[in-house]
Amino acid sequence: MVIAQTKISRKIAVIGAGAAGLVASKELIKEGHKVVVFERNSEVGGTWVFDPKTESDQLGLNPSRSLVHSSLCSSLRTNLPREAMGFRDYPFVAKEGEERDPQRFPGHREVLLYLGDFAGEFGVTELIRFETEVVRAGLVEEGKWEVRSTRRGGALVDDVNEVYDGVVVCNGHYTEPNVADIPGIDVWPGQQIHSHNYRVPVPFRGQVVVLIGSSFSAYDISRDIAGIAKEVHVASRSVTKEIPEKQLGYDNIWLHPMIDSAHDDGTVVFQDGSSALIDVILHCTGYKYNFPFLETSNIVDIDDNRVGPLYQHIFPPFLAPWLSFVGLPWKIIPFPMFELQSKWVAGVLSGRIQLPSQKMMMSNVEVFYSKQEDFGVPKRYAHDMSGCEFDYKDWLAGECGFPAAEEWRKQMYIASEENRVARLETFRDEWDDQHLVLQAQEDFLQYSF
Ligand code: FAD
Repeated sequence: MVIAQTKISRKIAVIGAGAAGLVASKELIKEGHKVVVFERNSEVGGTWVFDPKTESDQLGLNPSRSLVHSSLCSSLRTNLPREAMGFRDYPFVAKEGEERDPQRFPGHREVLLYLGDFAGEFGVTELIRFETEVVRAGLVEEGKWEVRSTRRGGALVDDVNEVYDGVVVCNGHYTEPNVADIPGIDVWPGQQIHSHNYRVPVPFRGQVVVLIGSSFSAYDISRDIAGIAKEVHVASRSVTKEIPEKQLGYDNIWLHPMIDSAHDDGTVVFQDGSSALIDVILHCTGYKYNFPFLETSNIVDIDDNRVGPLYQHIFPPFLAPWLSFVGLPWKIIPFPMFELQSKWVAGVLSGRIQLPSQKMMMSNVEVFYSKQEDFGVPKRYAHDMSGCEFDYKDWLAGECGFPAAEEWRKQMYIASEENRVARLETFRDEWDDQHLVLQAQEDFLQYSF
């Protein structure tokens, strides 16, 4: 890392006005860049803009389906405590107001309001072109980027082509469903849905449902529908028992290992040998990265859900710093990570912070890939930050000349994980780390709201 005194102002396109796009824009503005934010929705917030609509293809496989961006269900509360979840420069503190939700793990609307406050506070809102979708971002000669966008205002469609010095991709990665392969599924007559299209429990009244997955979504949705469905079966890789197990505290939730096969009489057989006549299979099986607008002549591609080659999950060595991605890593506290990635991108684009040579960045990526391979980690886990999230964030902070993550935030993350395991049903309302909440609140006093 070299930090120079002079800064060059660039013209930058930011694609997306979710949490990543908003903080990227804030940091780019602060660094002196000229920023245009493209957002195909009519408001900021991305994932956090709850949409009661679902897609025309409930499984999300048909490329010409009607698209809905957000995957939130109506009852969703955050899975992280607000103190740890918020941006470091703009803490997610409880605010007064009729619409506000002061809970430590608030409902989704509170996160949306927080992001709206953030965009207003830092002058990002006025830079956003709403209802404007980027349909192509491609490299043109002289190393510049051509961005073609389409604005839909009623029946009018307005196509615009512009040239930018750089593009920062912040389009999110919880919209393109990944579904499980199930032997026999083609003849199985029941209904299949991806959790992307789950909103409320009502359609599952009296039904026998299988949820596939072991993530927050499978956990939350199984509880959401248990009160109304006849039976809920959860098929998860993390279950290894040889007989089905009833979920403690529930009469109708059963835990199984993965599905073995599905059959034309509607039966689903699990790997524990048990079977049930199933009405609905709900895939809580995650998402795929997707950049339909990006043209890089295959310099960047997606291989088994690994986006690459990317130096530190952000810069493609051969297109750096003019193309960057903010927000790809997962199993991480997202907002503070977006913030650090954005500070780095903004500083590198202005020339204040220097990247290593292309050759060194590429060799760093190759070392990372071969380590993953040696440990038998499939490519699709390349952006999974389990176990190394704070090392990654502290490395980014170091590059930007920003302090490492606060000790209370690190401890709170661990304490929250432990609390979730210990209090599966009540972790959002009961906890033992109040001393860390007090430390966070003390720390937040340095920021004005
Ligand atoms: P998004 O929020 O998805 O924003 C991307 C934006 O890009 C959208 O507004 C979209 O309209 C826009 N866009 C996409 N393509 C284009 C285009 N071509 N042109 C113009 N605009 C475009 N995180 C937490 O911190 N705490 C939680 O409790 C939590 N719970 C979650 C629960 C669920 C069910 C899901 C799916 C995610 C959850 N997350 C949580 C993770 C959450 O996704 C991130 O916190 C964060 O909101 C992602 O922000 P983003 O900006 O990367 O993407």
